[in-house]
Amino acid sequence: MRRVSVKISNRKTIFFSNSRDMICVVCDKNISNQYVLSSPHNRYRCLDCAISLHIIEKIPKEIEEVMLTE
Ligand SMILES: [Zn+2]
Repeated sequence: MRRVSVKISNRKTIFFSNSRDMICVVCDKNISNQYVLSSPHNRYRCLDCAISLHIIEKIPKEIEEVMLTE
């Protein structure tokens, strides 16, 4: 499987989480094995929360393409 990461800003990156017990700081869901948004201080968010909080506008095209081919 192809994994991509996309830099959103200096301190925020979307990447594929391989960690087994990563939790979204917003919705408390386990977000392992999916694309997540990282931000400083190890605060990780699922992409749904990142979008609903307007941290990102939408899932970047590069990520969307990889998600669709999986
Ligand atoms: Zn979330």
